[in-house]
Amino acid sequence: MTASIENTAHGHDYPPSYFAATAHAAPFRPALEGVKQVDVCVIGGGFTGLSAALHGAERGLSCVLLESRRIGWGASGMNSGQVMAGWTRASRSLVHQLGAARARQLFELAAEAVAQLWLRIGRHGIDCDARKGHLIAAATPQDMAMLEAEAECREGVMGYGYSRFVDRKAAVRLTGSESFHGGLLDAEGGHVHPLNLALGLARAAELAGARLHEGSRVIRVRARGARMLVETMRGKVLARHVVVAGGAQSGRLLERVKRRTEALSVFAAATEPLPADVAATLVKDGLAVCDTRMAANSFHMTPDRRLVFGGGERFRLDPEETPESIVRPRLEAVYPQLKGVRLDHGWSGLVTVTSSRMPAIGREGQIYYAAGYSGQGVAQALLAGGVIAEAIGGDTRRFDLISQLPNLAVPGGRWLRLPIFAAIGALAALREVH
Ligand SMILES: Cc1cc2nc3c(=O)[nH]c(=O)nc-3n(C[C@H](O)[C@H](O)[C@H](O)COP(=O)(O)OP(=O)(O)OC[C@H]3O[C@@H](n4cnc5c(N)ncnc54)[C@H](O)[C@@H]3O)c2cc1C
Repeated sequence: MTASIENTAHGHDYPPSYFAATAHAAPFRPALEGVKQVDVCVIGGGFTGLSAALHGAERGLSCVLLESRRIGWGASGMNSGQVMAGWTRASRSLVHQLGAARARQLFELAAEAVAQLWLRIGRHGIDCDARKGHLIAAATPQDMAMLEAEAECREGVMGYGYSRFVDRKAAVRLTGSESFHGGLLDAEGGHVHPLNLALGLARAAELAGARLHEGSRVIRVRARGARMLVETMRGKVLARHVVVAGGAQSGRLLERVKRRTEALSVFAAATEPLPADVAATLVKDGLAVCDTRMAANSFHMTPDRRLVFGGGERFRLDPEETPESIVRPRLEAVYPQLKGVRLDHGWSGLVTVTSSRMPAIGREGQIYYAAGYSGQGVAQALLAGGVIAEAIGGDTRRFDLISQLPNLAVPGGRWLRLPIFAAIGALAALREVH
């Protein structure tokens, strides 16, 4: 299916990607006009904002969501769709840092986020090519020890019974690639069509009573008496609470997010539809796979037999590079049989990362925020929106647990911050391996 007229109308086209080209038709939701008074004003129509609006409306709060372009326009509509259990950090390093009891509580929260995602897809009848089954594949023999330790920690300390360690033979069979040395297979992880998931969540939020406005860029947020005043070019919202869910742009709205997160470009591509005999040599059982490289490769097959392959990250873009020039060598290294395959779609988007690779979720007065899922936002953003709505509704238990995650504000101007973020990320990864 190609993008519908509605999906490309009103001067707010979706950025090109395989997912934009195969999205369901979605109505353009009119821009905010005039003045509205609500309990909650959500800024941003990605997974974080949609989840906050959906959960808020289900709790009986009046919610307005303002999206500057289209629902799912940002990372949420173009990501590789991989759903993973746990956090971006190794479980063992969380235990080391926080102690077993708190680490387990956090892991349970992340596991519940994944379970809730599948439940929501079923409950709201969201047609988003959802498939369960995820493999983290070891890219080097040394990474096997890390994955084995992760499997043991998940089972022994976190009480998580869905993932198991698999050997090289199994990893090669499951991926159809000789380049892996084993892996961690998770029955609860999987993959989705992210833009169709976002559109389905938007519909569910509206059915629950939330009002969604596209083409409604928030230009200012400030206190007005006991309420917050949120302004777009053509309208205003007076709200008891504001949720800043602007993804990579959140830092422009809130200094606290700016200090704790950094945006990073990541890349993805989708091949031409592959002949059935070629597709049969690739990843099996509808699995989603990501590997243990520092800038991980991730891939899965689509229903129309394309390989969606994500890989490569840059803090700064080199003008000579394109998504295809970055993704192709990685794809062909994993699957030499696809050398020279046509890439019908190539795209890049921004992910926000934190120094600790744990999300930055918190509150500043009446303003709540969540960002920095460090590449694992499909499940975590849905979780974050949900716990923020719970906190606004008066139950702060899960919000308190997750908002107290250690995340350092990183000092320095932009040119100093980028290497610091990169260095912290690399060190964190090294610490986890040894
Ligand atoms: C190429 C790519 C691949 C990825 N792969 C994966 C993956 O496989 N698995 C995974 O878990 N995660 C993945 N991620 C990360 C994941 O997509 C994000 O963590 C997640 O979608 C973040 O959701 P969000 O709602 O916080 O932000 P976004 O989806 O970026 O949404 C923010 C929205 O806010 C809007 N906005 C911003 N400023 C304003 C304003 N002033 N007024 C109104 N609206 C505003 C934007 O237009 C945007 O639509 C990937 C990301 C990318 C880019």
